[in-house]
Amino acid sequence: MKIKQKVTTYFTEPSKCFIAKCKARCCQDAPLPEDFLAQYPKELRRNIYSAVNIGRNDPRDTYNSVIYNTTPNPVQLVGFDQYGNKIMGIPQKVMEELEIKSMEQVKALIEDAKNYRNYCPFLTDYGRCNVYKKRPPICRDFGTLPDKINQCPEKASRLEIIKFYVKDFYEFYKNLAVNTTQKVVGFFTKK
Ligand code: SF4
Ligand code: SF4
Repeated sequence: MKIKQKVTTYFTEPSKCFIAKCKARCCQDAPLPEDFLAQYPKELRRNIYSAVNIGRNDPRDTYNSVIYNTTPNPVQLVGFDQYGNKIMGIPQKVMEELEIKSMEQVKALIEDAKNYRNYCPFLTDYGRCNVYKKRPPICRDFGTLPDKINQCPEKASRLEIIKFYVKDFYEFYKNLAVNTTQKVVGFFTKK
């Protein structure tokens, strides 16, 4: 019984960072020290469209932090309200450049903005930090300080990861079969 329990726990307890599930939530809207970007220009992996300086992100900080907008949608983070909720907006200059004149256009952009996640400019397409060894204090603290979440609630279990890969494997061969069938049918039916 104990072995069964151990095996179940091994496969079902949340234990791993798995970007396919969590979408790297920890690296979205990341406040980076304001002088950080300039130190590692070669490690940048995303375009930067705008930035907002949020001042001291933590009362213990001795520096200001900046959140970079790396999504191509003009609806950008422009600040935070008194409760810490994000304020999104379209900068005036961008409105003029894109000749946005109607609310319909704005609504369409807001709808489209939901398709993007605002990742840290150092996050690679594989969900890896490109400055991991030199990452700033806020990233090092994540999940380690007693007053912060000790284990990210987004972590995946081994079973979830296995299920994801099995589904992925199945989808790949299903698509391959459909494409091959279409090509064969196309070959024999074309005149
Ligand atoms: S810490 Fe959490 S959000 Fe960040 S990669 Fe790991 S599981 Fe995902
Ligand atoms: S510096 Fe690295 S760990 Fe920190 S938010 Fe950016 S990608 Fe994530």
